[in-house]
Amino acid sequence: MPYVVTQSCCADASCVVACPVNCIHPAPGEPGFAEAEMVHIDQDACVGCGACVTACPVGAIKADTRLSTGEQPFVALNAEYYEVFPHADRAPVAVVPPQRRLTRPGPFQVAVIGAGPAGLYTADELLKHPEVAGVDVYERLRTPYGLVRFGVAPDHTTTKQVSRLFATIERQPRFRYRLGVHVGRDVTLAELRQRYDAVVYAVGASADRRLDIPGEDLPGSVAATELVGWYNGHPDRAALEVPLDHERAVVIGNGNVALDVARILTADPETLVGTDLAAGPLGRLRTSAVREVVVLGRRGPAQSAFTVPELIGLSALADAGAIDVVIEADPDEPAGTDTRSRLLAGLARRTPSGDGQRRRIVLRFGHSPIELLGEHRVEGVRVVRNRLERAADGSVRAVPTDETSVIDAGLVVRSIGHRGLPVPDLPFDEATGTVPNDAGRVEPGVYVVGWIKRGPVGFIGTNKTCAEETVSSLLDDLDAGLPAPPAPAAAEELDGHRGRDRRRATVGAGS
Ligand SMILES: Cc1cc2nc3c(=O)[nH]c(=O)nc-3n(C[C@H](O)[C@H](O)[C@H](O)COP(=O)(O)OP(=O)(O)OC[C@H]3O[C@@H](n4cnc5c(N)ncnc54)[C@H](O)[C@@H]3O)c2cc1C
Repeated sequence: MPYVVTQSCCADASCVVACPVNCIHPAPGEPGFAEAEMVHIDQDACVGCGACVTACPVGAIKADTRLSTGEQPFVALNAEYYEVFPHADRAPVAVVPPQRRLTRPGPFQVAVIGAGPAGLYTADELLKHPEVAGVDVYERLRTPYGLVRFGVAPDHTTTKQVSRLFATIERQPRFRYRLGVHVGRDVTLAELRQRYDAVVYAVGASADRRLDIPGEDLPGSVAATELVGWYNGHPDRAALEVPLDHERAVVIGNGNVALDVARILTADPETLVGTDLAAGPLGRLRTSAVREVVVLGRRGPAQSAFTVPELIGLSALADAGAIDVVIEADPDEPAGTDTRSRLLAGLARRTPSGDGQRRRIVLRFGHSPIELLGEHRVEGVRVVRNRLERAADGSVRAVPTDETSVIDAGLVVRSIGHRGLPVPDLPFDEATGTVPNDAGRVEPGVYVVGWIKRGPVGFIGTNKTCAEETVSSLLDDLDAGLPAPPAPAAAEELDGHRGRDRRRATVGAGS
């Protein structure tokens, strides 16, 4: 009974390490691991022991006999990977580097800033070392888990299960939360450096990219960052104005977050009951007039950024009759032969229900917004049709034609990427929206990890390998005696009146 990786796997590779026969790839260190949308189980080599199922933090691995109809395409997806990368010469045991030991005895104290995936994986890595006497995780909000709580779509309940892994990390005795402390405002880096041997920033990339077109600041034009925070109950987004009184919304950008937004806006609200969708937004969705969400992509289906697991999930929804999915693409554009293009072509062949009852998601390719229309609020989007130009290196560029049209809509969501914000007391690269670093090191004693280190790319699990790299740099510096040990002082002195130790009060809260 072989096992299959299904859904949006978080790619943290815990299953790779657990597998006794090394049949899950790509493994950390293998080509393609950093970019892989998911890992894959070799059906021929799998011995069906189920060790990977226990290790997977997001419940994405299932026995092939237990797959739902919508999950069946994952069998082929796992198998296809091994047709391209046979891994015939793999070693019998997964690549697990030997546990590194510090040469200096410690005890060391480390502060981690930000309790998202990167911060928590970093704490976990650090606590593998007995010389690290304590890791204090500072978080500006009263609840941890960053985008896992406030970004991952509420209907992706299995992905949200990674919170259980985080709860295990935070239960370790040398782990301590300092929730409700905004580093840079409530406490400075200089103050932290007086108390800790090392400070690791894991503050994410919380800003959105802008379209820079007229009308972008009209009411009814929101960033996906804001909308996603709103429906996930982020305290900063509770008052967001989200007009749902028009039958159509437009989402600009065609990556997974755009698809998340389109799915939530078109879902039957009753299917979202019991998920992490916040109560207020659930009530608003129950009375929503939105019947159609148009997802705009400037280039063609072959260039879209949707991941294959997300498209399989969308196809399953369409197959189950939950929504209609309509593909609008230039018929003269050559269809790609990759899995993504094949899935999109499959969606294009489906006939919409035609009864007008189902909500629909329209994936419209080859168009860019040039202006948001409306006097006092968004009433529509003027778009231009693009033609695609192929360069000698194979890259494809969208070139605007002179053909424009208007899409009536009451809500426009821009979902064209995240961006890091400057971090007080640290250098900042405006072009990349990241803190310049060398394998996570900003300078001895100060480090970065996660999206503020490498930009807003990758999956939850990508932050695990990212944390391993940063912690390795930090350990190198501790071994080298850098920086000088801090003056002995209790961390309580730092934030006693500004933040609170909430480890006991908030472990697992709301997860
Ligand atoms: C909308 C959306 C959906 C996603 N869905 C998925 C998915 O389904 N599957 C998947 O694998 N990946 C998904 N991702 C990607 C995943 O969420 C990221 O890879 C991951 O969250 C990045 O981790 P991070 O710790 O760097 O940042 P974050 O998760 O953003 O965590 C940063 C933390 O730092 C805190 N912080 C910021 N500044 C300060 C400060 N000054 N002081 C103290 N604390 C501070 C923040 O409050 C936050 O808690 C999604 C991303 C987005 C945006």
